[in-house]
Amino acid sequence: MLEWSEPQQMLRNTVRSFIEAEIAPNLDELEHGDTPPYDVLRKMIKTFGIDVMAKQQFDKQIAKEKAKLAGEQKSDAEKKSPVDDATRQMMKGEEAAMSMIPIIELCRYCPGMVTAMGVSMGLAGGAIMSKGTIAQKEEWALPLLTMEKVGAWAITEPYSGSDAFGSMKATCKRNDDGGYILKGNKTFITNGPYADTIIFICKLDEPGVEAKDRKILSFILDSGMEGLTQSKPFRKMGIHSSPTGELFLDDVKVGPERLLGETEDGSGRSGAKDTFSTERAGVAAMALGIVEKCLELSVKYAKERVQFGQPIGQFQLIQLKLAKMEVARLNLQNLVFRHIETVAQGKKPSLAEASAMKLYAAQSAVDIALEAVQIHGGNGYMAEYQVEQLCRDAKILQIYAGTDEIQITSIARDLLSREG
Ligand SMILES: Cc1cc2nc3c(=O)[nH]c(=O)nc-3n(C[C@H](O)[C@H](O)[C@H](O)COP(=O)(O)OP(=O)(O)OC[C@H]3O[C@@H](n4cnc5c(N)ncnc54)[C@H](O)[C@@H]3O)c2cc1C
Repeated sequence: MLEWSEPQQMLRNTVRSFIEAEIAPNLDELEHGDTPPYDVLRKMIKTFGIDVMAKQQFDKQIAKEKAKLAGEQKSDAEKKSPVDDATRQMMKGEEAAMSMIPIIELCRYCPGMVTAMGVSMGLAGGAIMSKGTIAQKEEWALPLLTMEKVGAWAITEPYSGSDAFGSMKATCKRNDDGGYILKGNKTFITNGPYADTIIFICKLDEPGVEAKDRKILSFILDSGMEGLTQSKPFRKMGIHSSPTGELFLDDVKVGPERLLGETEDGSGRSGAKDTFSTERAGVAAMALGIVEKCLELSVKYAKERVQFGQPIGQFQLIQLKLAKMEVARLNLQNLVFRHIETVAQGKKPSLAEASAMKLYAAQSAVDIALEAVQIHGGNGYMAEYQVEQLCRDAKILQIYAGTDEIQITSIARDLLSREG
């Protein structure tokens, strides 16, 4: 893939028009007011039929899973042929492209909204779709995938961040009634203050099993359950349109139907790791949106701002910054295209590949946003100029979904484990 196709460009233009009409004028209220992002996101999802597409895909997947459970044989017509495979792959690639475009476009204005949407639909909804039972998918995943409800995915704790499993203190204990009792605090949770549905990740507290060997289990919680408290949003450096908060669980009693997958078979660690991979690939699209916008604003400013009798774009030191931005934009676009092609071929990036993508994307977004501020001089430091917000927002990409240092560790571990 070298360029966006014509239909993809058309989608990009309509999404851009929607964002410029509905989000850009309200940016100040979304970023600094008390307006949570969910209603605008729902409007966007409805406008582009994302909810209808999500429901269709959901119905297809559930029908397949039900047929598999019933042991139904595929009819001849349903059996795979090479032609079917090619079409199926093309459609997968098309879906991946169509899901990247709104991320890129939103990030040109509001990376926080992508965070709120990505955590709800991608992480919380995705976790249930990948490890849940059919009943759990129908009850809890579908409303997240259509954004009817807001989801949160909670692994981080006050004393457990990068070492998410090793230092985890949140626990569940088996209850006499066949259910579990959950206890623990989670922090920095995106959508935590407003989430209707929460994926709570914790360790199974079993007598005689050492903390490091305990099973990791995930539970699906509803807002308002007895013993569950959701904090107010934290004040923070950037992505203000993405509410972040704490969760406190004090002996929350749940039935076995809330255990993700309804089994203790130990898939909790791999489930969380799958989630890390998905998150990391999405960051390249976010970085591309930020870098595209920073470059656009910087070129415009470099042509308009006159110092020493000429536009600052005539100074080689400014030209060097613009050229560096263009190189980053091209590299990020290529990473996004590569991701789309990988999906189209029915493959998944390895954790190390996804980490390399995330590391480069996050560092580029921060470098380029800082350069954009520099090109804008004093104006770049003022909230009135959009580069100020994009620069604060970009920084989160180096922290969440695994810090830069953790990405480096993942990549190096993979390289060093290879034979020869
Ligand atoms: C706005 C925001 C939204 C978030 N949303 C969510 C969410 O929805 N759900 C969720 O569960 N979490 C969420 N997080 C948490 C986020 O994933 C963690 O903050 C992140 O993983 C880092 O953990 P930490 O903050 O505890 O830092 P720490 O792990 O304490 O790290 C501190 C520093 O030490 C470095 N470090 C740690 N270990 C190593 C090592 N082995 N080698 C080298 N350096 C190391 C880190 O890179 C970092 O520089 C969010 C965080 C923020 C800020």
